[in-house]
Amino acid sequence: MTYSADRAGATLEIDLDAIVANWRRLAETAARAQCAAVVKADAYGLGAAKAAAALAAAGCGMFFVATLDEGIALRQALGRAPEIAVLNGPLSGTAPEFAAHNLIPLLNEPGQIETWSQFVEQAPLPHRGRGRGPGHQDWEGEGIRRFGGEAILHVDTGMARLGLTQAEFDSLMQAPPPIGWRAVMSHLACADESDHAHNEIQRARFAAVCERLPGTPASLAASSGVFLGPSYHFDLVRPGAALYGVNPAPGKPNPMRPVVRLQARILQVRQIDSGESVGYGAAHLMDRPGRLATVAVGYADGWLRSLSHRGYGRLAGRRVPLVGRVSMDLTIFDVSEVEPRFAHPGATIELLGDAYGVDDAAADAGTIGYEMLTSLGRRYHRVYQNTAPA
Ligand SMILES: *Cc1c(COP(=O)(O)O)cnc(C)c1O
Repeated sequence: MTYSADRAGATLEIDLDAIVANWRRLAETAARAQCAAVVKADAYGLGAAKAAAALAAAGCGMFFVATLDEGIALRQALGRAPEIAVLNGPLSGTAPEFAAHNLIPLLNEPGQIETWSQFVEQAPLPHRGRGRGPGHQDWEGEGIRRFGGEAILHVDTGMARLGLTQAEFDSLMQAPPPIGWRAVMSHLACADESDHAHNEIQRARFAAVCERLPGTPASLAASSGVFLGPSYHFDLVRPGAALYGVNPAPGKPNPMRPVVRLQARILQVRQIDSGESVGYGAAHLMDRPGRLATVAVGYADGWLRSLSHRGYGRLAGRRVPLVGRVSMDLTIFDVSEVEPRFAHPGATIELLGDAYGVDDAAADAGTIGYEMLTSLGRRYHRVYQNTAPA
């Protein structure tokens, strides 16, 4: 279901030009490396098909999603050319679908490597055995990548989430499987804390892994890793959040352009006396008389309940404090300081924008920009700004 502007309680503007500008910025910062784009979870809630199409038009040649289904949907949206890698790797029985949609699996653990090895050995792959092994192949003259059974090897260097343990990697090197590696990768646990000692430990472990796979492109950095300096860039960087405006270097000025703007419609404005209570639990008490505006956004829209009593909206250039508890479909703001001609049913209060962005709202909600973005709901009227030719 899509919501039109006049029926939706709120409008979410997504600036595709800013996403492209952020990708260019990241690509320049990691200039020696290829810059992919992570568009998992529907591009962190902002729309993977639209974001990826804009990025592909700007020259981004590789995308990462989390699941097979995200990969299939993205392949349909983007056509045949860009590479699409699937972070979670193949679940049992899904290898043929990776092949059918030309998706590159990450192989995260020995069982996935075993499954994929068996599949590439049995599958009638085009161009196999023509001297280059089962690595990637191009259709001559067309530059279109054909399925060649290649995969990305994920080695854990200090995250203990996905990826081969050091012992598993050692035994893999004893008996290398018949897989053409598109890349070898690992993931940093503390890249958003630039002076955290764990970063260098992981970098050194990863460099040692890469030495044993000479000629294989290496990838370590996500958004924050890009800003740890060239020694973290290797051959391929994989930013996600920074594309969408989240600050990759918390505590420092955000180098990324803001991408989202959220404007919520006022449904009602009312007078309230001093001593009266506001919202569920009567949890906010007015200490003076005033005016309240209720907008059509609540926690079901990703305006997290932990934002109760916290943060601000913007109306007519002024901050309007959020008062009381956030409810499922509604949130209340104190608009006493705003002239009545600006605070009326039908007017909009800006919840996210240049003045108060996803990182600000996340901090007030006790979470991170990633969760704020991926929580943004499905009931918004969505407007995409894209001046670049598609
Ligand atoms: C999500 C993810 C990324 C992107 O991370 P950001 O911090 O959003 O840039 C990169 N690599 C892996 C393995 C991931 O899971």
